[in-house]
Amino acid sequence: MSFQQDHYDAVVVGAGPNGLAAAITLGRKFKSVLLVEARATVGGGVRSAQLTLPGFIHDVCSAVHPLAVSSPFFRQLELHRYGLEWIQPEIPLAHPFENGEALCLNRSLEATADVLGPDGKAYRDLLQPFVENHERLLSDVLKPLSIPEHPYLMARFGLKAIRSAKNLAEAKFQSARTRALFAGLAAHAMIPLDRTATAAFGILLAVLAHGVGWPIVRGGSQGLANALADCFRDGGGEVLTGITIGSLGDLPKADHYFFDVTPRQLLNIGGLDLSENYRKRLSCFRYGPGVCKVDWALSGPIPWKAETCRKAGTVHLGGSFEEIDASIREAHAGRKCDSPYVVLTQQSLFDPSRAPGSGHTAWAYCHVPHGSAEDVTELIENRIEHYAPGFRELILAKSSLSAAAMEQYNPNYVGGDINGGLQDLFQLYSRPVLSFFPYRTSKRNIYICSSSTPPGGGVHGLCGYYAAKGL
Ligand SMILES: Cc1cc2nc3c(=O)[nH]c(=O)nc-3n(C[C@H](O)[C@H](O)[C@H](O)COP(=O)(O)OP(=O)(O)OC[C@H]3O[C@@H](n4cnc5c(N)ncnc54)[C@H](O)[C@@H]3O)c2cc1C
Repeated sequence: MSFQQDHYDAVVVGAGPNGLAAAITLGRKFKSVLLVEARATVGGGVRSAQLTLPGFIHDVCSAVHPLAVSSPFFRQLELHRYGLEWIQPEIPLAHPFENGEALCLNRSLEATADVLGPDGKAYRDLLQPFVENHERLLSDVLKPLSIPEHPYLMARFGLKAIRSAKNLAEAKFQSARTRALFAGLAAHAMIPLDRTATAAFGILLAVLAHGVGWPIVRGGSQGLANALADCFRDGGGEVLTGITIGSLGDLPKADHYFFDVTPRQLLNIGGLDLSENYRKRLSCFRYGPGVCKVDWALSGPIPWKAETCRKAGTVHLGGSFEEIDASIREAHAGRKCDSPYVVLTQQSLFDPSRAPGSGHTAWAYCHVPHGSAEDVTELIENRIEHYAPGFRELILAKSSLSAAAMEQYNPNYVGGDINGGLQDLFQLYSRPVLSFFPYRTSKRNIYICSSSTPPGGGVHGLCGYYAAKGL
């Protein structure tokens, strides 16, 4: 391998959003920073590709970016200067029901509360203080465990967020439909909804919908990764793709090394000289269920029974609170669920550049047992067909990735876990090990900066940013 220099101030391995964020932050501190990526393109979980037919652009992993648009770090970077353009779907989220009706999260908190009938007041009371202060709230929530800058707001949030989604939904909402809407949000935690702190995910995703929207990237998620890489190069950084690092010896000499990988991968990288005690602690890191993901090229828009779903960027297909919880529970316990909870996005409705002519794209995943090699496309399509009869007739081509295939595509998705490790209350703040500065390994100049560190999964770059900032 030939590198431009024999020695760098810092080297980052892995060009996912966290590796890119670490590289940009290091580039502001040091003269020479190298970013090395195994695949041919940068982006990690933030890539787009023509997975089905020519002209159909699909988001391979992440599609909807409330965390990126609100990330205090990404906001500093003014990524529009590097071509990034956000598109806000008319409605962030719809949740259809059996009878052909749907609930939705509008951008406006008021408009959302208005359609929730008897639950409108409870919904408004729950969310208003956080929506009004969303920037402050996010700056405290999306960081490693530390003294909050806004203690009163955080205490108020913490008292609600610490509850289980089940407990909070039952206590606050009378209608089964409002509870189902909340379950669909909280289910992004990927842990059973009666577990402590699952309410946090439901509240945060609703706050994001009202505070900043759930936008997509014009032209595909790759646009965000490319903008980050251009921002890094603009600051003098060097990017090398197509190089898989198996050992420290594969890299040039550097003062600092940052790894955008999860604990299991770090343990397999040779020459790091990590202490036995640290290796033991890293090996206790727990991974969660996987996902099976499908992309479709369609001849037209999805024919939803519920009109609202035709205006939504994201649609949660899972029916009632109990059905959604059962789906998560099965995946968590290592069992297949025959009617899984499905997260679906329909980018081309809002971004015509995603499909040629009158064509459309759709993206969906459901939770499956960790490491499952089973392709459950049929089950996902059954779910969609149920709420949108005639969907199957529109399919021109499709591409599926089982949880096992997801890990082959990107080794950071261990067993298909898209969050870089289980996000239960303990591991949310003790990732990858319990420590005051969890990014530093036992070796003074070696750091881990992937979503297996705080604040965890999602595209926000904050794991990379805090790792590099705290150096
Ligand atoms: C199907 C799916 C849907 C998702 N949807 C969303 C969504 O809509 N919104 C959202 O916010 N998040 C979503 N996510 C989660 C999001 O993609 C991840 O949380 C995020 O990408 C994690 O970023 P990262 O930088 O930690 O790791 P990654 O993005 O996984 O990047 C790690 C990079 O390191 C490289 N690498 C690994 N090992 C080596 C090595 N040894 N040598 C060189 N390079 C290496 C990999 O090739 C990869 O490019 C989704 C994920 C999946 C899979």
